[in-house]
Amino acid sequence: MSNIAFIGLGNMGAPMAQNLVKAGHALTVFDLVPAAVRMLTDAGARAAASATEAVAGADIVITMLPASRHVEGLYLGEDLLAHVQPPTLVIDCSTIAPDAARKVAAAARARGLDMLDAPVSGGTGGAVAGTLTFIVGGSEDALARGRPVLEQMGKNIFHAGPSGAGQVAKICNNMLLGILMAGTSEALALGVANGLDPKVLSDIIAKSSGRNWATELYNPWPEVMAHAPASKDYAGGFGTDLMLKDLGLAAEAALSARAATPLGELARNLYALHSQGGSGALDFSSIVRLYTQKPR
Ligand code: NAD
Repeated sequence: MSNIAFIGLGNMGAPMAQNLVKAGHALTVFDLVPAAVRMLTDAGARAAASATEAVAGADIVITMLPASRHVEGLYLGEDLLAHVQPPTLVIDCSTIAPDAARKVAAAARARGLDMLDAPVSGGTGGAVAGTLTFIVGGSEDALARGRPVLEQMGKNIFHAGPSGAGQVAKICNNMLLGILMAGTSEALALGVANGLDPKVLSDIIAKSSGRNWATELYNPWPEVMAHAPASKDYAGGFGTDLMLKDLGLAAEAALSARAATPLGELARNLYALHSQGGSGALDFSSIVRLYTQKPR
């Protein structure tokens, strides 16, 4: 069993950390929000007063933060890396820009530390169930060291390539997810506008060629799936602003590689409009409201 420092206990980090406590690890946790920390201490983790205190004596440091600026700000700006002692393994599970991941990993290497970018897929449901997919960038050796702990939070662990490669693969996946969620919303709204029951239409699509993760497991229409954020007023889940961030990362990656991503750009604009309308904190499946809200 390891001493693990876990920093960032939001919608994803909290259940991931809980699974590590359940697996028997000694967890020291930190988040800027005290209520998030309390949830974990109730589950058996030890609270640290700061990120620096959390990493003292850790075998493994795991971060699950919103975006590039938080990860760079913590590891480089606040110089957290200076407080991590080799041979501690550092794993960042946040979805951030590949360049930011490479920059932090290079700074870690300069201090003799192994670092993995290990963004996840599977949503909050996967985080709770311990069935996440980890998409990892970094060396084979570092992944071999991190694998046992990743397996206690996830079911599928993929090595995408060197540092930053995990983020590139994750961004491609999430661009597709953003497009699929908007497309699913559009199709369901079309059916309902033409008199169909959204549950019946979803069942049909789930067994037909339009089948996808959004219709089958994360349906955007309220009351079609009891466990989905759509049936909980779009609370929790994966925020619209986080999806907007990921579509922005896809746009940056497209620019730097001179790749064409017209559908990704269209989806980014839809989520931007939705966020500007005041829905940034709602789960991203609330994009369906762009299609269903009648003009006043
Ligand atoms: P969240 O906003 O719910 O949680 C982020 C947490 O980080 C918050 O509790 C915040 O207080 C904390 N935090 C921010 N800066 C900090 C700092 N300097 N020190 C300590 N704590 C700090 O976000 P989330 O939904 O848990 O997502 C986290 C990451 O995972 C994001 O990069 C997101 O894109 C990615 N992701 C999310 C989902 C999902 O379904 N929610 C799925 C896959 C990937």
